[in-house]
Amino acid sequence: EDPLATRTVYYIEGDGIGPEVWKAGRPVLNKAVEMAYNGANTLDWQELLAGEKGFAETGEHLPKATMEALAGADLAMKGPLNTPVGKGFRSLNVTLRQVFDLYACIRPIKYFKGIESPVKRPDLVDMVVFRENTEDVYAGIEYQSGSPEAKKLIEFLVDELGANLDPTASVGIKPITPAGSKRLVKKAIDFAIAEGRPSVTLVHKGNIMKTTEGGFRAWGYELAEQEYAGKVVREGEDGSGVIIKDRIADAMFQNVLMYPEQYSVIATTNLNGDYISDALAAQVGGLGLAPGVNMGDKLAFFEPTHGTAPTIAGKDMANPGSLVLSGAMMLEHIGWHEAAALIHASVEKTLAAKKVTVDLAAQINGSTRVGCQEFGELLLANL
Ligand code: NAD
Repeated sequence: EDPLATRTVYYIEGDGIGPEVWKAGRPVLNKAVEMAYNGANTLDWQELLAGEKGFAETGEHLPKATMEALAGADLAMKGPLNTPVGKGFRSLNVTLRQVFDLYACIRPIKYFKGIESPVKRPDLVDMVVFRENTEDVYAGIEYQSGSPEAKKLIEFLVDELGANLDPTASVGIKPITPAGSKRLVKKAIDFAIAEGRPSVTLVHKGNIMKTTEGGFRAWGYELAEQEYAGKVVREGEDGSGVIIKDRIADAMFQNVLMYPEQYSVIATTNLNGDYISDALAAQVGGLGLAPGVNMGDKLAFFEPTHGTAPTIAGKDMANPGSLVLSGAMMLEHIGWHEAAALIHASVEKTLAAKKVTVDLAAQINGSTRVGCQEFGELLLANL
């Protein structure tokens, strides 16, 4: 996208540590934009109520006005939201993803110097995970053991389809569609081509779940062949372009730890993606430095990967880094690469100075601990 002078960004503050990471992090985003464009570009932040703040002010966790604004938006950011306790409540995050069809969860995993990583060669870690966000066992179609619904379903599966199934089982459904798989893989391949990335790896468990996970693999390759002829090449075949390969999920978990240099863009189903994104984030500093976006065809909703961290909320202990890096991702998404680059350089410089929040203090030798607000001020000063 071409730079525009002002971009409106809707934002949800979030629960728990949400308010404090915004307070520490947003000035960093504003300042980076100001510095990169000498004040010509600005972010116009428009708050939308949600979560506990939404409930307190409107009686709803996802107020109508918020949903209406998001329906017309292309850019938004959010802090973490608690799932309200009580019967009948779905996760607010899952609701937002489903209502706005944010089918791709994208998380970059990049190493910053100085972090004590549990892997031997963390400097080789530079991956972007594209996780399908709307299908798989997350569809929420589950029936409790012994319930009339489960009994009825099992009866049908046993009597009509000849399935071998214990009548006392809890049963869940794992829907994976050709269209759902293809649109996710398409986003991953488009990204790889645009960013000059060497490969896209389809991660699946198709050796066991042949029609669902195996389907994801097959439809991914099908899409690559049909829509990207000449731009991609299947591993082991002649030709040039982005290499498309696939790996079975369990082997992939081993490989990303042992041979991170072999993987760049990862495209995978919902549950695999959930596990692999957190495991990879642990190689490079954990949740405090893990940004992400949930993206559909219109709305891109940037958010830190972490939750509301209730045990440290309100104590000035949280790391605002994940929020700041999510903001940097957003700036890249709208083409403001110079501002994003300033932020990445500042994070690197700040970590090198070894004054960090508690989560990172444990991972950086010889570091001293600072609070959330002070860490934000250091990021600001180091821009
Ligand atoms: P969590 O991410 O809140 O916390 C996991 C651990 O990481 C805790 O030890 C926490 O203190 C630490 N941590 C998290 N973020 C940190 C940060 N920025 N700086 C320093 N330490 C940090 O996960 P959880 O405890 O499983 O979930 C708590 C609540 O958050 C739940 O209600 C859950 O539903 C919600 N949640 C929301 C989102 C979201 O909004 N996207 C994501 C995950 C969890």
